[in-house]
Amino acid sequence: MTIASSFGTVYLVGAGPGAPDLLTLRAARLLAEADIVFHDALVHPETIALAKRAVHVPVGKRCGRLSSAQQFINKRLVDAARRHAVVVRLKGGDPMLFGRAQEEIDALRSAGVPFEIIPGVTAALAASAELKTSLTRRADAHGVASRSVVFVTPRVAADADPTSLAPTSYIDMQRWIDAVNAADTAVLYMASREADRIASALIADGRSPSTPVARVESASLPGVAMRVLTLGDIARDGFDESDGPATLIVGDVMYHVQLQDATPAVAPNHQERCRAA
Ligand code: SAH
Repeated sequence: MTIASSFGTVYLVGAGPGAPDLLTLRAARLLAEADIVFHDALVHPETIALAKRAVHVPVGKRCGRLSSAQQFINKRLVDAARRHAVVVRLKGGDPMLFGRAQEEIDALRSAGVPFEIIPGVTAALAASAELKTSLTRRADAHGVASRSVVFVTPRVAADADPTSLAPTSYIDMQRWIDAVNAADTAVLYMASREADRIASALIADGRSPSTPVARVESASLPGVAMRVLTLGDIARDGFDESDGPATLIVGDVMYHVQLQDATPAVAPNHQERCRAA
């Protein structure tokens, strides 16, 4: 490929939630053309392997482990664009959600590097697919509807140390609680490890302890695990710790989840409402 400017092009590419075949055709084509690929830790090895002729550079951030400082990643992208025609920055899910894409975009823009964004399937949508439960719905017989969805993270990256994730800060607490409450359904990213504190904070803020919460771990992957509990259950017991990335979905539409493994998916008060109907 010819280089139109003194730079190649950097593509911020969504790798999807995990399963290699949930990649867009455009992403697959760019990976095949790539000279160099900088990839996150969560990207599936088979997806990275599509970049057959490229140098593969892991720059993954995974709970603070094995992380490269964001500024260093930004600089490496700009440097790579000086030497290569097709530079791919491969990010889990969609690059524009909780992927620090804006910092990379700002760095590329200020250096004058041409760039494009290739969307991917974000974790919220893969989780909803695994649950076979829509994030939105028209009112059911009990008046449960979801006309709005928010993507929220209660995590804040500590500016002092961009390689680590600070625990939920009280300064931001009311802000994310307000965000969760602002929509009928809230999808929480990077929240599973602190689920008990999150549930307690939402209850303290006035959410009903019977509000259902679905947790989907490793959506789209063979190790997928799903549970539905209530905010009250989670505040008391948390969710079982596990290793895979997990998404929490808070909202009454999660009453509609039916899991085959006989996990009680329906909150007691809803069962009563159903019987009463
Ligand atoms: N840009 C990514 C999100 C990065 S933040 C996206 O659009 O999906 C990382 C968080 O995403 C994890 O902490 C988890 O909450 C969620 N996540 C990523 N992959 C997931 C998967 N396969 N299943 C469930 N949640 C996932």
